[in-house]
Amino acid sequence: MIYFDNSATTQPWPSVLKTFTAVSEQYFGNPSSLHPQGARAQRLLDQARSQTADLLGVDKKEVVFTSGATEANVLALTGAAEAYQNRGNHIVTSAVEHPSVLETLKELERKGWEITYVSPDTEGNIHVSQIEKEIRHDTVLVSLMYINNEIGSIYPVEEIGKMLRTHPSVLYHVDYVQGAGKIPLDMYESGIDYLTISGHKFHSVKGIGALIVRNGRNLHPLFHGGGQEGKKRSGTENTAGAAAMARALRLSLEEAAVGNDKLRRWNARIEKVLRDYRGVTINSPVSRAPHILNFSLNGMKPEIIVQALASFEIFVSTTSACASKAGEESHVLKAMNLPGNRAAEAVRLSFSYDTKEEEIESFIEAWDEVYASLIGRRESVL
Ligand code: PMP
Repeated sequence: MIYFDNSATTQPWPSVLKTFTAVSEQYFGNPSSLHPQGARAQRLLDQARSQTADLLGVDKKEVVFTSGATEANVLALTGAAEAYQNRGNHIVTSAVEHPSVLETLKELERKGWEITYVSPDTEGNIHVSQIEKEIRHDTVLVSLMYINNEIGSIYPVEEIGKMLRTHPSVLYHVDYVQGAGKIPLDMYESGIDYLTISGHKFHSVKGIGALIVRNGRNLHPLFHGGGQEGKKRSGTENTAGAAAMARALRLSLEEAAVGNDKLRRWNARIEKVLRDYRGVTINSPVSRAPHILNFSLNGMKPEIIVQALASFEIFVSTTSACASKAGEESHVLKAMNLPGNRAAEAVRLSFSYDTKEEEIESFIEAWDEVYASLIGRRESVL
């Protein structure tokens, strides 16, 4: 099997699974319990929190473990909006965010908030000036992703953070899901108040993520209960998940230095090959995350390409996993205002640090067969 759907989720690394199992077996106590088994679990959770914080360059008190990025995004947006509603009722975001951001903001709109959606240019880029232009006296929050999960564009979150220093009352949330463990981001330097990560995007188990909340920033909790996670996220902590995620984050960052260079080379190689086929257009910008490549084949439904590649045991996706089941066209490509039907024809390849060069070459061979069966031999159409 060749798995090129790593932006949807990654395979947990064996040592990460070992950590998860060992902690589940030996540290199963409730970290809030007073007896020694509870205290042991509490110590382990503290350790996972410190490791996560160190790897992200933040304070351990700022780490709020959640069930994943969807929860972290909803907590950041809803929690900040409720906590800071005295400052205004306007939020700036982009039209290409993950549904967990867009749908939460729709809900806030229903409650009377005004949301401004900035669109990328046809290359898929968003510029600092576009965000700056939309800041008003009543803007409470700016929310932007770091790396787009469908096309891999990297948005200027550091520069936007610097620009926001001249607007000290505006809070800043960054969905760092596709960058965490891959491309370091300095939360403090970038002036970020809330930062979202998700373990299963960097080879951890599913069901664990975190929202990093800068010290001193408020947040209205989504759940009320035992007051865990500094009263920001009630519920018995996922100790094994937290330990597994901390380990996966460390291992992923260790891989990144060499891994990103390899992926960048292979990503460019596939792009070059695909461009040789008539009807193929590349939807990802030139400057993009090393692990994502998005393209369209003119006149071809992406589901057909996914199925054809699957017959070669190569697994890719149409847009994002969240939209692909619904058979919807990509809201990201739609916002880019691309010509023709490209938004409905998008295919995404997403790699991981486990990807091997042979797999890239196998894809290239399989693609030639798939293209021949769907369109005709390349020679005959060139
Ligand atoms: N944000 C981005 C950019 C994502 O790619 C995803 C996962 N597709 C999420 C948020 C949601 O993450 P989770 O699956 O952990 O809820």
